[in-house]
Amino acid sequence: MYFLFYFICVFGKIIYVCTLNISIMYVIKHIKDVKIEIQKFTDQKKSIGFVPTMGALHEGHLSLIKRARQENDMVAASIFVNPAQFNNKEDLKNYPRTPDKDIESLKKTGCDLIFIPDDKEIYPEPDMRVFNFGDIDKLMEGKFRPGHFNGVALAVSKLFDIINPHRAYFGEKDYQQLLIVKALVKQLNIPIEIVPCPTIRESDGLAMSSRNRLITEENRKNVPIIYKTLSRAKELSTKMSVPEIKKTVISIINSTPDFMVEYFEIADCNTFFLINDWAETKNAIGCIAVYVSNVRLIDNIKF
Ligand code: AMP
Repeated sequence: MYFLFYFICVFGKIIYVCTLNISIMYVIKHIKDVKIEIQKFTDQKKSIGFVPTMGALHEGHLSLIKRARQENDMVAASIFVNPAQFNNKEDLKNYPRTPDKDIESLKKTGCDLIFIPDDKEIYPEPDMRVFNFGDIDKLMEGKFRPGHFNGVALAVSKLFDIINPHRAYFGEKDYQQLLIVKALVKQLNIPIEIVPCPTIRESDGLAMSSRNRLITEENRKNVPIIYKTLSRAKELSTKMSVPEIKKTVISIINSTPDFMVEYFEIADCNTFFLINDWAETKNAIGCIAVYVSNVRLIDNIKF
């Protein structure tokens, strides 16, 4: 039986999580300590893959770590619940936090370094930068969560500067965020390859999300309707127009008790321009946000 034995050593401000197979994972809180450790890998000409997260990790996050593990010599992850990207204080307060379990999962998945800063470390003083991503951040998540993507860009640009990876891994589950990050590295001439990773789902189709644990048992039974409806919309897209598909999806999901669609839009996968006719693009994506009672879930499907 494979038996993992964890022990934690504290040297200075860096925690080393070790297993019997003698691999070490650095758990670091401070920027200056991260930079020292990262520099050691860089000096050895090791490629660095980076996975930024907000913690409460699940298999979706871990799929990014696994991909980074395959493609790089060294894998770094961050756990930072970024206050700047929450436009709702209650949402920030209720965001799930499971740091001990996360550290264990990251160690088992082959992560080499975790950066777990507190708010003051990332924002020693208010970061007043304002980004402009053209139209991408004005609709869907950008429209319903004002300031959200500016907050994402503030944190991601700082994390990129600290870790300075060769590649960074982002889930297609947050498709609009992926486009924002791609735009960010282009705008700032940051030489990091952004690697998109497919959405990991539960067996009933629900896209894995840290927020899923906030869904009540009663609502959990109905939640597969979201991806089922998106999949059905994909099937029907050869027969129905864009406006018809949108109307159908919204009405099916809204007819489920406690479910309320905030938006369902169909856009071009690359430019994110909304389309009204299938002829406008060969690569359409449907993106949805749904309130399930007070839990907000997002998902998408490529047509
Ligand atoms: P978060 O902790 O929600 O900020 O997510 C961190 C990273 O994990 C982001 O790049 C997300 O897109 C990605 N991610 C979250 N859920 C999933 C999922 N179900 N499948 C793939 N990637 C995901």
